[in-house]
Amino acid sequence: MRGRLIVGNWKMNGGVAQNATLLNALVAGWKPAGDRAMAVCVPFPYLGQARELLAGSAIGWGAQDVSEHASGAYTGEVAAAMIAEFGARYVLAGHSERRQYHGEGDGQVAAKAKAALGAGLTPIVCVGETLAEREAGQTAAVVTRQIDAVIGVLGGAMARTVVAYEPVWAIGTGRTASPEQAQEVHALLRGRLAAAGTADVKLLYGGSVKAANAASLFGMPDVDGGLVGGASLDANEFLAIGLA
Ligand code: PEP
Repeated sequence: MRGRLIVGNWKMNGGVAQNATLLNALVAGWKPAGDRAMAVCVPFPYLGQARELLAGSAIGWGAQDVSEHASGAYTGEVAAAMIAEFGARYVLAGHSERRQYHGEGDGQVAAKAKAALGAGLTPIVCVGETLAEREAGQTAAVVTRQIDAVIGVLGGAMARTVVAYEPVWAIGTGRTASPEQAQEVHALLRGRLAAAGTADVKLLYGGSVKAANAASLFGMPDVDGGLVGGASLDANEFLAIGLA
């Protein structure tokens, strides 16, 4: 049973007063029908605020990164167990901005997903090709390499993850993959997951999702929802995406 999942990625945005306005509006407006779920991934300092304002609501919360280490001399890192202590359910692993600006490679992303699972969190494993890779005809090879690295480490535990396909050229650019482009890659990812015996993993699409394009993307057979950046900072827009 895959169901629909919409996750907001606030990135490095927010502030205590602004978060309260946004979270309170989401709680007031989110009346999920059927098997729809919503969550927000907030900057680390706001995990406590998310727990306070979302506790008892139908909206989950999570972080945007996690250390692959359990504890120790890793200044600036945050362990999965620490995130779990804030009642978080989700954590992003391998977002393209982490891969691009922090040099995270496939092995490290897999280790982060494993650490998250070990603390009872659901890792949202992000994969996706750059524009240069797409134009060079390497999309399938890149996303296969990225997902296989995680499947290779997690094995059957992959069933307890969520996977997000986020073409890098569509993130924050206003340029969205067409529903057909998204479906083509999602079908490929579904095939890799099925080969590992975990075909029912939720597969989210991310990259300039808005209320105006959400329904057509989510209507594709292998698209189970969205990972939403910019539009998740606007309560009305994010709620509309959730109900698309
Ligand atoms: C993201 O941050 O994961 C993302 C998809 O951003 P945006 O929706 O702004 O493209």
